[in-house]
Amino acid sequence: MARYVYDLRIARERASTLKRALKDVTVLYAVKANGHPAVVDALAQACDGLDVASIGELALAGKAQRIVLSGPAKTEEFLRAGLARQAVVNVESLTELHRIIALNQPARITLRVNRSHAKLPGSHAMTGTPTQFGIDESQLGEAIALARESEHIDLLGFHLHAVSNNLDVNAHNEFMADAVAWAHAQPIEVRQINLGGGFGVDYTGSRAFDPYQMKIPKTQTELIVEPGRWLVAGAGTYHATVMDLKRSHGRWFAIVRGGTHHFRLPAAWGYSHPFTIVPHDEWDEPFARPTIRDVEVDVAGELCTPRDVLTRGQFVSRLRVGDELRYEKTGAYGWDISHHQFLRHPSPQFVILS
Ligand SMILES: *Cc1c(COP(=O)(O)O)cnc(C)c1O
Repeated sequence: MARYVYDLRIARERASTLKRALKDVTVLYAVKANGHPAVVDALAQACDGLDVASIGELALAGKAQRIVLSGPAKTEEFLRAGLARQAVVNVESLTELHRIIALNQPARITLRVNRSHAKLPGSHAMTGTPTQFGIDESQLGEAIALARESEHIDLLGFHLHAVSNNLDVNAHNEFMADAVAWAHAQPIEVRQINLGGGFGVDYTGSRAFDPYQMKIPKTQTELIVEPGRWLVAGAGTYHATVMDLKRSHGRWFAIVRGGTHHFRLPAAWGYSHPFTIVPHDEWDEPFARPTIRDVEVDVAGELCTPRDVLTRGQFVSRLRVGDELRYEKTGAYGWDISHHQFLRHPSPQFVILS
């Protein structure tokens, strides 16, 4: 009735494509994009390690060789558990740096910096603009001094994750060149530069972020990338069965078993996610099968709110109650960002293809 299908083979293939395209760059998977244990496991092995942002994500890290800790409000429990796994901590603030120093144990860190002048197109810019992330560049001197004072802290370099869903490779190349030059201009010996994720996926069209077009800056320093979306979006499909078809004030609505409590991204971002129809020919209800032809339809879910909409105005040549709608590119920020408990409907099934 409603299900997600995660194809681990696609996720692994994306990881190996990225590793081939970015030869000497360390590739981590940002677990927050899809924390299904099977997906995390597959990518922990196919990539060089994981970027985890909570104690829950850390618990999934299993055999991951390398782990970095992210997130703007790390608890002491999370920090301790991460350090016990030899994780590198991406430090988000001076307070957090104090908190790590107070643990009184060896810690390898990078400083996440919100630079004064970094800019990059794409949604969700997180640097060069006011945000809750990172250390303001104006406080960087203080952070470096604090790290140096502590005998336990090993400051490896910087974490400069800057953007989400960027489809413009040239802009990303400029960002990387600028970030690496910036890092080398800082008054520390830089051994690691984490350039973050943000490689884009086009949900409504066919633009692609091609990693073979990426120009990796020349440097002796280890470079790290940590994409989430690009690795797993295409490895997931979401399927929902049409329960009803109705006309309201001149518009057709298809209402599905499922909706934004399973797949919130279109509602969160305010776009229309396209679907394909998987025809189901069997029909054993004791009434005529509702069917529409050659019309545009909005797809709404089973929640009691008018915002529960996945698609607006997609043309269908035929759609019947009982047919299934298939949503591609739903493997990232799909189930994981959705409000599952709202209305307490049953969860979708999860099918793992391995
Ligand atoms: C979310 C996030 C990522 C992954 O971002 P994508 O847009 O999914 O590639 C990487 N690093 C950090 C610190 C993040 O917060």
